[in-house]
Amino acid sequence: MNPLMAPTTSPLADAAASAPHGLETRPSAAPRPAEPTPLADARVQLAEAVELLGYTDGLHQMLATPRRELSVAVPLRMDNGESRLYLGYRVQHNFSRGPAKGGLRYAPNVNLDEVRALAMWMTWKCALLDVPYGGAKGGVAIDPRQHSMAELERVTRRYTSEILPIIGPERDIPAPDIGTDEQTMAWMMDTYSVNSGYTVPGIVTGKPIALGGSLGRASATSRGVTHIALAALRHAGFEPARSTAAVQGFGKVGADAARFLAEAGVRVTAVSDQYGAVLNTGGLDIEALTDHVRETGSVVGFPGADALDGADLLTQDVDLLVPAAVEGVLHEGNAADVLAKVIVEGANGPTTPTADRILRERGVLVVPDILANAGGVIVSYFEWVQANQAYWWRADEVESRLEERMLNAWRHVLGYAEARDLSLRTAATALAVERVAEAHRLRGLYP
Ligand code: GLU
Repeated sequence: MNPLMAPTTSPLADAAASAPHGLETRPSAAPRPAEPTPLADARVQLAEAVELLGYTDGLHQMLATPRRELSVAVPLRMDNGESRLYLGYRVQHNFSRGPAKGGLRYAPNVNLDEVRALAMWMTWKCALLDVPYGGAKGGVAIDPRQHSMAELERVTRRYTSEILPIIGPERDIPAPDIGTDEQTMAWMMDTYSVNSGYTVPGIVTGKPIALGGSLGRASATSRGVTHIALAALRHAGFEPARSTAAVQGFGKVGADAARFLAEAGVRVTAVSDQYGAVLNTGGLDIEALTDHVRETGSVVGFPGADALDGADLLTQDVDLLVPAAVEGVLHEGNAADVLAKVIVEGANGPTTPTADRILRERGVLVVPDILANAGGVIVSYFEWVQANQAYWWRADEVESRLEERMLNAWRHVLGYAEARDLSLRTAATALAVERVAEAHRLRGLYP
């Protein structure tokens, strides 16, 4: 018998509550929160895949538990001389297929459980797209908009120093995520390199081009989202050039996704950011909107559109919805009101398992995050390969390799889902989990 398989299928009814918590580094008696959290969502998704695959409880526990977690205090000297303390984390969920890989998030509500969920999703994303990495994620509970560049530089360098013992180009490779960017990566690379005594471009991805970043990395997630969105629309019977879309989030993922969708002929009628939303049923001029955001800092007040409540963006009468902001935005309370027929997850974890079920019952095609937004980590991998070889590819080489990988994965997930009558999320998670478990089985359990 395959040693990964359970003798009988285990019930695993409440994976979120029963999943192991052994490596908790803060008071561990915290009860399970009443509201679903990203970690509970990630564990439910894993439990569904594990049940389908028939794995043992022991293997399930291993897959559900981060391999290594580090919580750090990050003291900051403010420009005015005062000092503040922020909490930071780096979670390495799995290394079975290679070094850990994943972004660094700066947001006020970052916490260890959120970082755990995001790290787990990175493991599945890397496995699904067959890039030779495990998954990791980092975070600092700080609002970057409240700080000067000098303060952000000091926070980044101190956080990097605190996690130095566990990162490295062959151990764990950070990248940008919400609230961080290529400048953050430049500071991280410099801090790591100064401490190493030589320049190590492979320590982070999403770097500025001048420091060994890859052409096409900045827009890679959005490009990937667009490739998948166009394929998913066609699969659902929509001609992209006659389709409409709403995009939640106008940041690193949403802004370029809206632009690429519009370039492909999709009429993007509504977009939102954390301050509000705008609507033009005739189609937004994304270029003019981007200029407006550059000048004012928000989509709000864009003269070429009407104002819309941010929450109403998700229930617009459009063919395609791209949630490209944060976790948990499609939930029990609004999933029944979603009118879009296709949802492509630009964000990590935007749909809770309950919303997933409601949307599936209503016939909405949901393309999961670990497939839809994998363009970022694919080009991160290309960047790491290029940096390690000190040889750089042309933009068109990066883009065509990205498209090929995204569409191959789309076909693979779709075929697996259709053959077994699964949601795309369960299919994608099962395919990814299978690859991780196979690597684990081949390597064997040490000692
Ligand atoms: N933060 C991105 C993500 O969630 C990119 C991670 C990476 O490139 O390592 O996929």
